[in-house]
Amino acid sequence: MSSPATPVTLRDRLLSERTWKIGSRVLLVVAAVVLLLFPLSPSASAQNTIILALVLAIGASGLNIITGYAGYLSLSQGAFLGIGAYITAVLTRVAPDVSPFVWMPLSGIGAALIAMLLALVTYRSRGPSFVIITIAFLFLVQFVAIEWTEVTNGSAGITLPLPDWPRELRNWPFHLVLCVLLALSVLMSWAIRRTKFGTGLIAIREDEGKAGTIGINAPIYKVLAFGLSAVFVGMAGSVYGYYLSFVDPIGMFSIIICVQMVLAVILGGRGTLFGPVLGAFLIEPLNALANNSFGGGNARLVLFGGLLVLLVVLLPQGIIPGIRRLLEKARSRDAVGLSGARLDPRPAVVVDRTAVAPRSSEPARPLLEVRGLHKSFGGNHAVDDCSFTVPEGSITALIGPNGSGKTTVFNLISGTMAADAGTVLFDGTELSRNSWSRAHRGIGRTFQITRLFREMTVLENLVAPLRDFSFRQLGLGAVSGTEAAKAEELLAFVGMSAYRDAPASSLSYGQQKLVELAQVLMLDPKLIMLDEPAGGINPTLIARMGDLIRELNAEGTTFLLVEHNMPFVLELCDPIRVLAKGRVIAEGPPELIQKDPVVLDAYLGDDYLLDQQSKTGGVAVVKGARR
Ligand code: ADP
Ligand code: MG
Repeated sequence: MSSPATPVTLRDRLLSERTWKIGSRVLLVVAAVVLLLFPLSPSASAQNTIILALVLAIGASGLNIITGYAGYLSLSQGAFLGIGAYITAVLTRVAPDVSPFVWMPLSGIGAALIAMLLALVTYRSRGPSFVIITIAFLFLVQFVAIEWTEVTNGSAGITLPLPDWPRELRNWPFHLVLCVLLALSVLMSWAIRRTKFGTGLIAIREDEGKAGTIGINAPIYKVLAFGLSAVFVGMAGSVYGYYLSFVDPIGMFSIIICVQMVLAVILGGRGTLFGPVLGAFLIEPLNALANNSFGGGNARLVLFGGLLVLLVVLLPQGIIPGIRRLLEKARSRDAVGLSGARLDPRPAVVVDRTAVAPRSSEPARPLLEVRGLHKSFGGNHAVDDCSFTVPEGSITALIGPNGSGKTTVFNLISGTMAADAGTVLFDGTELSRNSWSRAHRGIGRTFQITRLFREMTVLENLVAPLRDFSFRQLGLGAVSGTEAAKAEELLAFVGMSAYRDAPASSLSYGQQKLVELAQVLMLDPKLIMLDEPAGGINPTLIARMGDLIRELNAEGTTFLLVEHNMPFVLELCDPIRVLAKGRVIAEGPPELIQKDPVVLDAYLGDDYLLDQQSKTGGVAVVKGARR
């Protein structure tokens, strides 16, 4: 008897991914056709609104690259519209016989170059300070447009010639050119999302510090993203100025346009392809309404300011992600989750535990040499003249009480933080400052509190690391063939294949530790630094972590690990460095370290020794032996 197949209900069909995919494509085609043919509409004011909506949509779509993908909220996107408009207006003044359309590409390039300059200037700021700089930039550009009168004609503005085409064509050329620019802008966003460049931007949005440690050169990514985000809005500015046939500093560098662009991105859905466009086509009619019915001006400020607040409170993800979420909820109502899934079974480890780690102490040359590192936070000397080495091929432990500076030492070695003084030599040469170049040299690290990119899937997390930097690589597919194969292999290695397509945010803490290890392994590092790999995870996972470390070490990878679980450390590591108050107070093989009175005093405590002796039947003579 065969089991009865579950009947496919109408609800299932309606909710299915296929139905929605086809539905949204049809909707998209219809919307595109309506948009393209809109100038056929008899209403001149509606035509005007649509042209302005197109301009806004191009701006929002570009802004989405830095705000949606890279996570930088910019209030200066409108400035690039103005810059584009001014470039065309000024050139038209110089060469009045040439059609202003000719200058459109130059407007795009000019806007992009200035945007890249802005990115260079702001590359260290984030969050609120970044937003404030972008507002200041808008006013700075406006100031230049007002003051540089020989070129811009100051506050009086520049009048452009009227369109030189037959009257019957009305606004068709403006409309069609803007439609093409919007299509290109969306196409560019689509392409970016599929490349290494796009994945890097998402990684920067999720956790810029972590992105550096896996080899992502954030400043270059940001400079490029800023440039690309301004290209089409600069060209749209060129068309916008020609369409209005007048550019002036107040109209062209308006904070309201900037806010509308941000609103469009947030309303439609940050980081989605069509969200910003949808947002723009909702915001612009509202803008027209505010202008016609409430007299514009301050009423618009109240309207859009209020809308921004409402949006952030009620619909923080925006319309498109909101709909997606509702759909997923409806779909998963009867579905069984992954929660019951277990780790993949792994074959018993073939490595002989006793044979692998060279128990003779430190014969090898140092792979890592830390010399006189200092780092203080205010008056707190977290790391204070810290020096030690990590012999090549070893599994070296860095142990010490909470707050002794272990994590800070890791941050200084990986470049996540800059040291106040001291040097770190790797493979005999000093490390450069940036965390990504340290990752490229072969230093991989995990974090005490795991830092996976939570909005990416497990597989996306694994293919994010970059072993070097090249411009060519930016354009490669986000997941290339050999890389995906390697990622799958590593996932199997840490026993997490079942979770390949799960979002990283859905993993348990221990599972995140394993995935983070696999992620670091994608870098093929010579040295792996693990910050409390066994902390907060269950005994089975601890055993697996130990096995993995041993296997990798047997294949030649050097380890430096921080861990409080002493049995784990003593079984796995040799040599051991003991840190207290930011300084190495003892080092040597585990046998000596666990009996060292200084270490017992500063970290392990007398109870530890008594405990060890009760296990080995020793006599409690330690007290006298101390000092
Ligand atoms: P451990 O990892 O050994 O527990 P940490 O390196 O995390 O120790 O911390 C060492 C000291 O530095 C602590 O006193 C901690 O409060 C301080 N510290 C660490 N990071 C920061 C920071 N980003 N800002 C201020 N103080 C910090
Ligand atoms: Mg720590």
